[in-house]
Amino acid sequence: MNIILLGPPGAGKGTQAKMLIEKYGIPQISTGDMLRAAVKAGTQLGLEAKKYMDKGELVPDEVVIGLVKERLQEPDCEKGFMLDGFPRTVAQAEVLDRELEAMGKSIDHVICIEVPNEELIARLTGRRTCKECGAGYHLKFDPPKVDNVCDKCGGELYQRDDDNEETVKARLKVYQEQTFPLIEYYDKQGKLRRIDGVGEIKTIFERITKVLG
Ligand code: AMP
Repeated sequence: MNIILLGPPGAGKGTQAKMLIEKYGIPQISTGDMLRAAVKAGTQLGLEAKKYMDKGELVPDEVVIGLVKERLQEPDCEKGFMLDGFPRTVAQAEVLDRELEAMGKSIDHVICIEVPNEELIARLTGRRTCKECGAGYHLKFDPPKVDNVCDKCGGELYQRDDDNEETVKARLKVYQEQTFPLIEYYDKQGKLRRIDGVGEIKTIFERITKVLG
């Protein structure tokens, strides 16, 4: 099964992706995670990408397209894959369609998780992640037992550089302007599945799996 998770930042794509890949046994391809890994490793690509990420802007299409193309060739994508945070522009979607066609593949479902803007801002600005194991928390909705300490591994929690209010607002504007048109793009292909992204994590997961079967 080849799936795209679409939706604004803070919609819960990463959270749902982690649960879905376990259920369906396919890898998660998150361009955001790949870029953050490159930033952490201090590679040339990472240094270049950071300039855009810190402002909440999109990294140039050719950079992310290159990363995804390479990743899709890896053997674990044979049985399917879940794209999280890619494509984010119509240009990226068009290249993806062409690349998949050349590989004899296509996208089966585009899951679009919908959440109102006010809720997205609250979710993103309160979001915290464990430096060690990557577990996610929220200061208000899902706080750790001890301030700033991961319940699972005792690691220190941090706030993503781009989760401050100013950058969050910029990211939401970028989503509206550059990524929103993808909804129509995939709707025309008959692949769009709209999911209400407000509610318990488990409930939203059930809504998605009902659609995927
Ligand atoms: P995410 O973790 O998906 O919220 O992505 C964090 C940041 O990485 C975004 O705000 C962009 O700067 C960059 N990024 C991630 N995926 C893409 C993409 N498909 N195209 C362009 N930039 C991206």
